[in-house]
Amino acid sequence: MLTSLSRPVLTTLVAVALAVGACGSTDPTSSSGVRARSATGLPATDLPAAEPPVDLAIVDADRLDPDLLAAVQAAARDARADGITVQVTSGWRSREHQQRLYDEAVTRYGSEEEARRYVATPDASAHVTGDAVDIGPTDAADWMGRHGSAHGLCQTFANEMWHFELATTPGGECPEQLPDGSSRP
Ligand SMILES: [Zn+2]
Repeated sequence: MLTSLSRPVLTTLVAVALAVGACGSTDPTSSSGVRARSATGLPATDLPAAEPPVDLAIVDADRLDPDLLAAVQAAARDARADGITVQVTSGWRSREHQQRLYDEAVTRYGSEEEARRYVATPDASAHVTGDAVDIGPTDAADWMGRHGSAHGLCQTFANEMWHFELATTPGGECPEQLPDGSSRP
């Protein structure tokens, strides 16, 4: 009676042991196979993630001085690290666009002399030559005024906290600000 009962039990135990053994020998093989594929498919060490470029979406960026553009992009990356989003609200302008802005200023301020304190003529504007950018919003302009010189960017006019030009060497000292646009020699 006992032997007839234990025989199927032993058979079951052997079957289970074989199944476990089969699984046990299969898993390490397949997982080591995965590791081997990973090791050959990926670089041995992960490269640090490249600093993603800041998309400034500058209109007519190719008409800006390339050095100015590079400086603004580098500064925008620094600003982003400080939690500040830099926008270029105005970069290169055509002579026609600048003339329109100037004419509007003459109307608003009542005289060419007064208008030139705020808007340059096409002949005088650094925007027309691609050598100036206007930075916004206010917190970004403020940031640029304090940190832009690390990339050579300087606020040009005391009455325009948003207007920046490449005016010093990276890390250099910015020239003294002119009171306004009409005081530019
Ligand atoms: Zn400007």
